[in-house]
Amino acid sequence: MEVSFLNLKKAYTELKPELDQLWQDLHADSSYILGARLENFEREFSKYLGVKHVIGVANGLDALTLSLQALDIGVGHEVIVPAHTFIASWLAISETGAIPVPVEVDLRTYLLDPSKIESAITENTRAIMPVHLYGRLCDMSKISALAQNYHLRVIEDAAQAHGSFGSIPHKKAGSFGDAATFSFYPGKNLGCFGDGGCVATNDDETAQKLKLLRNYGSKIRYEHEVIGKNSRLDELQAGVLSIKLKHLDEWNDRRKAIAKIYLQTLQGVGDLVLPEDTPGHVWHIFPVLSAHRDALKKFLATEGIGTIIHYPKPIHHQEAYKHIHPNGLRFANTDKICATVLSLPMGPHLEIEEALFCVQTIKKFFE
Ligand SMILES: *Cc1c(COP(=O)(O)O)cnc(C)c1O
Repeated sequence: MEVSFLNLKKAYTELKPELDQLWQDLHADSSYILGARLENFEREFSKYLGVKHVIGVANGLDALTLSLQALDIGVGHEVIVPAHTFIASWLAISETGAIPVPVEVDLRTYLLDPSKIESAITENTRAIMPVHLYGRLCDMSKISALAQNYHLRVIEDAAQAHGSFGSIPHKKAGSFGDAATFSFYPGKNLGCFGDGGCVATNDDETAQKLKLLRNYGSKIRYEHEVIGKNSRLDELQAGVLSIKLKHLDEWNDRRKAIAKIYLQTLQGVGDLVLPEDTPGHVWHIFPVLSAHRDALKKFLATEGIGTIIHYPKPIHHQEAYKHIHPNGLRFANTDKICATVLSLPMGPHLEIEEALFCVQTIKKFFE
């Protein structure tokens, strides 16, 4: 049996009639940028999140960068970010001229450890950027309380957490921060047919600034109030996202069902460390830890099973960040995760039999 890590073709096939109709309608209107489809999607997604404004942008990285800029964060400022995340979280901070200040993650949740934030705060700190990595919500009550105490902004990176929640089911990822960002990269829980992203915020002024920044700093054509850029979510992607948003909760439920199977059947197998099950986890990926990660990955590949490592090299060891911390940084948990983590096949179109085949093959490896 061949099991791909993620099957995007099946996502298209399931919704083909509606998606094909969108393609026809799009050309009938021939409105491709900043039109009614974007406005519709922004309204629908803000309603889904329970947030006042959603502003579509070109990708998840821009969503982060523009959010920081809209909150006046830039040169001379520091932003606290998890040591373990996708590099985009750090890059956005660097792009504004601010400095990313990494804080260690918890080895049990893989998320920013709130107890380690306080000692990283300096007089230059302006914001905390929690990342809801792998689909699990950060401890937002602790992070929000810290931010309030120290008068810091909170920018949630929710690129992997569409529909995720913590202890309050209707309080979703993206509704906690001064701004929250999403990516609609095809492989995310809500993905489009190319690049896409958005910012969610309850603040009217931040929303207005973001609308300027994403469109050349302009509200009225050829009138430019600020130095903006071209970062828009186009009409095709917005149309695709409106169609897929209706299925997000159901598709997340299918991910949860796969996660349940893995959690029940892989308990005690070899040296595997399984992730914790929490009700609001949307399982963007399903990470396991093993000291035999590389051999396991190779074995699964020879048996036809696709896996990915999220992420193989810590950001604090990347060439790109040598200049900030020339003497190196030490994050033992992050190093351990990167050295041992493996993401098993996961997605709304993974069949139960496919998941069970993965389990069987993993057991075979450890026998
Ligand atoms: C995917 C991702 C991003 C960046 O999104 P793009 O749309 O690829 O620019 C940012 N942060 C995290 C945690 C991500 O997983």
